Amino acid sequence: MQSLWHDEEAARFGGPLGERVYTSRLLGRDASLVLHGGGNTSMKADGANRFGESEPLLYVKGSGWDLASIEAAGFTPVRLEPVRRLATLERLSDPEMVAELALQTTRVGAPAPSVETILHAALPARYVDHTHADAVLAITHAPRGEARIREIYGSRVVVVPYVMPGFDLARWVAREFPRQARADTIGMVLLDHGIFSFGETARESYERMITLVDLAERYLDRHGAWSVTTPRTPAAAEVSALDQANLRARLAQAAGAPLIMRTCTTEQTLAFARRDDAAALASAGPPTPDHSIRTKPFPLCGGDVDGYVATYRAYFAEHAARARDAKTMLDPAPRVVLDARFGLAAAGRTAKDANIVADLYPQAIDVLARSAALGGYVGLRQSDLFDAEYWDLEQAKLARAGKPPMFAGEIALVTGAASGIGKATVDALLARGAAVVGLDRDPSIVALHRRAEFLGLAADVTDARAVESALREAVLAFGGIDLLVLNAGVFPASASIAALDDEAWRRTMAVNVDANLALMRAVHPLLKLAPRRGRVVVIGSKNVPAPGPGAAAYSASKAALNQLARVAALEWGADGIRVNTLHPNAVFDTGLWTPEVLAQRAARYGLSVDAYKRNNVLGVEVTSRDVAELAAEMLGPLFGKTTGAQLAVDGGNDRVI
Ligand code: ZN
Repeated sequence: MQSLWHDEEAARFGGPLGERVYTSRLLGRDASLVLHGGGNTSMKADGANRFGESEPLLYVKGSGWDLASIEAAGFTPVRLEPVRRLATLERLSDPEMVAELALQTTRVGAPAPSVETILHAALPARYVDHTHADAVLAITHAPRGEARIREIYGSRVVVVPYVMPGFDLARWVAREFPRQARADTIGMVLLDHGIFSFGETARESYERMITLVDLAERYLDRHGAWSVTTPRTPAAAEVSALDQANLRARLAQAAGAPLIMRTCTTEQTLAFARRDDAAALASAGPPTPDHSIRTKPFPLCGGDVDGYVATYRAYFAEHAARARDAKTMLDPAPRVVLDARFGLAAAGRTAKDANIVADLYPQAIDVLARSAALGGYVGLRQSDLFDAEYWDLEQAKLARAGKPPMFAGEIALVTGAASGIGKATVDALLARGAAVVGLDRDPSIVALHRRAEFLGLAADVTDARAVESALREAVLAFGGIDLLVLNAGVFPASASIAALDDEAWRRTMAVNVDANLALMRAVHPLLKLAPRRGRVVVIGSKNVPAPGPGAAAYSASKAALNQLARVAALEWGADGIRVNTLHPNAVFDTGLWTPEVLAQRAARYGLSVDAYKRNNVLGVEVTSRDVAELAAEMLGPLFGKTTGAQLAVDGGNDRVI
């Protein structure tokens, strides 16, 4: 482990908190130190109050900020002395602590200060850094962990036994640190939790963290516990997409709500899941207590979801009974699944949550495997894990959380998603909480959105193999497909029947009919597994009820698709799958309509462009967004008892009405 400090880079971070921000980000850059809101840092400095009087303040990481991307605004200023004094109280409940810290905050609108704020205040140094370094955790969880830590560090660190993070830990440190610290003490090791370093400058505190963690890494290396990936790489597993969708369906059933599930098949996860002692190691609990909020205290090893639920219920019943306050049980579905066939699957109520689990668990695997190489992994007591998972403040968050968005935990597939109605549908579904897979032959689809809830895949819908591999990728990323929007289509150049070219006809049919049939067939087994029953919206056309001259191929293809959708509604109703069709007309904000084409068309009808756009019964312009919003609602509960329906979204067409 090496210091990443660079003077030129540091100089770019200005302001009184500049170096604090910079070194916090340096810690955040290394996944083996902190991940996803784990760890925290602080700085003590004098501030001026409204009367121009100086008062000592503590700037501490606010909740909701990651060290990797923190800015000055992410540090919350609190009055140092009153906060330090809180540690002298006998007792302070978590809600009381949050209230006291809020009272001492000196900036309106600052984020809630870290739960370790009192601990940061209790340490005398100007800068304090805290991480959950993997290497340190691997040693503290090994047999004789505490003795090993003392052997490695001597008086350079104060060793803190496991105490619940928050007030109790701060109180322990406030009392014991002054007694145990020596002249050469530069940090603290918190057994089974993490490590602190401190110093008089940001750089000193940060580089001491690096020094301390480096000593732990060297110790592991000396004891043959550093490189733990098995030398013979297990053959990559070919997991079936349908098997994974089945697993996700069973997890969702256990959770009582749709879940996103990401399959993470890597050399590391496969090697770990195939160890004889994988279940024993993993069941001993996560390496640091706050992981249990994300990963739950133990994973599912193998495929017995019901067995897991029973074990989880028993764990809850046992520990809730001795808790001071009444606890509300979280859903009992596993968040981590280990399986020799695919390695790791990570689940969450949203794609973001699943991704966090997918990031955290491989780090946990490194710790488990390294402790095992030192002779075994000694986990936290289950009661401690329960206290972290069912912490008051997390329970309060749960009580505050409103109704989840309409499609939370559900997965949608949209074809022709790079532009026009397809692109607008992606937006409408993301806004309603779905994870969305966008399919398009335009490669720009891949970068349409850079967010956890979106997967853009470049594939031509007429290429069966490309579609099959896209579906597989979608299932491995999110766990299934619950919602399908068939939007991709072509609109060939106008031609009379007499002049219609066979090839143009076939090409139109291939995209607008054959490709949709193939896709419906391929997605059907996935829709059948949808936790809230599968739903399909087909983007049809006004040309179905009112065809136009010169559009034989297009009108015939859309009519065939229309019948296909109606038959699907009949056949799939028994599986609870709903299939409905939208018939848009004159949607001009799509790739097909350049300003020139629009002007030509309008001129042909003797209309201005604006009048041409609004040439319908209501005299309104119909946009991609109008169609997309209606498509999203058709997939939602409002249309829960409607299938086989066709709805126009065209401003009213006198030929159709
Ligand atoms: Zn911590």
